[in-house]
Amino acid sequence: MAELVFFSGTMDCGKSTLALQMDHNHRVRGRGGLIFTRLDRGGEAVLSSRLGLSTGAIEVTEDLDFWDVVVAHLTGGHRVDYVIGDEAQFYTPDHVEQLARLVDELDIDVYAFGITADFRTQLFPGSRRLIELADRVHVLQVEALCWCGRRATHNARVVNGVMVVEGEQVVVGDTGGGVATSGQVEYEVLCRRHFMRRMNSRAAQAAALSADVLPLELDACPLPAPDAC
Ligand SMILES: [Zn+2]
Repeated sequence: MAELVFFSGTMDCGKSTLALQMDHNHRVRGRGGLIFTRLDRGGEAVLSSRLGLSTGAIEVTEDLDFWDVVVAHLTGGHRVDYVIGDEAQFYTPDHVEQLARLVDELDIDVYAFGITADFRTQLFPGSRRLIELADRVHVLQVEALCWCGRRATHNARVVNGVMVVEGEQVVVGDTGGGVATSGQVEYEVLCRRHFMRRMNSRAAQAAALSADVLPLELDACPLPAPDAC
């Protein structure tokens, strides 16, 4: 029985690496598959991992229909035993429903990989639909770490070094390519405590420096943020 499986986790927890490993494992067993991604940090139509591995992939555009793409491959005489979908948080709910249909009507395994929540802690629409429809949701066990060493559970958006909690849901940041016009956009994983205190690594460094001068705790909030201090 084919399955729709959603592998979720924060950034830096190895989702894309696992997606590549999954493709390899199936391929060496003689299975054929298709790899999709959307807005990968490595560029269009590439699935790349932070460990430096990458492979070609089909870019999921707004109007791409997974069903049509897969059926075209099958009718072209190619095997499609499984589908790997990376950056699945950027898929639309319609995309996710097309993936579910591949599982149910064509008996194709679908492995989707993505972040669940955005930098405001809100679910991405694609991730929400995956959680609603998946046969299994698998939270990845390779844990990303906050700068403090705790398990990182939240994705923070950092603009020009400062953590922000308002803005467009999708702004591709990181290094190179797709940098927003409003400034240098990066993402950083944080534990919930430091997410709530808006204390990204740069703010922590600044606080540590001032702690050399002033008797402040490193963990203390650098700003008079609500509820935090
Ligand atoms: Zn932390």
